[in-house]
Amino acid sequence: MSDIPGQVQDIEALIKLQEAETEIVRLKTILEKSEKEKNKLGAKLRQFSTALEESKESFSKAAEVCRDLEREIQMIDDRIVKSNEKLRMVKTNKEYQLFLREVDDSKKRKDALESELIERLDEKEKIEKIVQESEKEFNLLDAQIDSEQKDIDKKTIEDREMLAEYLERQAKIGKTLEPSLMNRFNKISKMNQGLAVVNVKNEVCMGCFMNIPPQLYIEVQRGKSLISCPQCSRILYHIKK
Ligand SMILES: [Zn+2]
Repeated sequence: MSDIPGQVQDIEALIKLQEAETEIVRLKTILEKSEKEKNKLGAKLRQFSTALEESKESFSKAAEVCRDLEREIQMIDDRIVKSNEKLRMVKTNKEYQLFLREVDDSKKRKDALESELIERLDEKEKIEKIVQESEKEFNLLDAQIDSEQKDIDKKTIEDREMLAEYLERQAKIGKTLEPSLMNRFNKISKMNQGLAVVNVKNEVCMGCFMNIPPQLYIEVQRGKSLISCPQCSRILYHIKK
């Protein structure tokens, strides 16, 4: 069946509805693309931010290692002081040898820890420089991406305003049509990327570019009822010249 329930005078409204629908689809496509661009920029910034957080994490780990070493060195220093005190109070040679070795062992341990601390401090400093550089780069990138995103928003202001206008127009026209016809329009539009109402030229549907049967073409030309294309189901109209 090619007849669609609806009044033939509806075709004028349907054509206008189609104009709005076409614009809505076009504008939504543009705006979705812009939104994707913005998201892509946001993802780039987040990626950088994650790398920066990782650098900061390794810096705090390096700093902790240094603090632990410094603490241990301090403990050994205290131990050396105590051993030296004991050394002054010894009564036997055996005790003297024992505490002397204690001091000696502590000093050796301290030397080793101090060498390690120097290396670790050096490492910490290197990481700190990386963090500082990354922070600078991040701030630059953040500002750059923010301005790029704002540019995208600025460029789409007009499109967003137009979209709002066409949506309003679409709603207004929709109110003048029977809900069943509106449903039909929406269904066909969804199936056909937003093109539901098309012209017929020389027996060819301008939606699917297939020939329509001559009898149907005559009916479309007469414009007494709403006809849909047997191939693509789009609602057909014919502009009389
Ligand atoms: Zn068709």
